[in-house]
Amino acid sequence: MIQCKICGIPLGKEPTTKQLEEHWKKHHNWHWEINQDKTPEDALLKKRDDKEASLFR
Ligand SMILES: [Zn+2]
Repeated sequence: MIQCKICGIPLGKEPTTKQLEEHWKKHHNWHWEINQDKTPEDALLKKRDDKEASLFR
């Protein structure tokens, strides 16, 4: 399950860019406004590197 890295809400198994963008604007509008240079994926999804790093905690 993919979760929003800002609020932790589950976003489904394979959220589309459109779904991510809607969640971003609806739930984190302040964040969207200051991060418009990012893609919704960059803004909301944990990178694979984060997951791998978490294995070593
Ligand atoms: Zn969120």
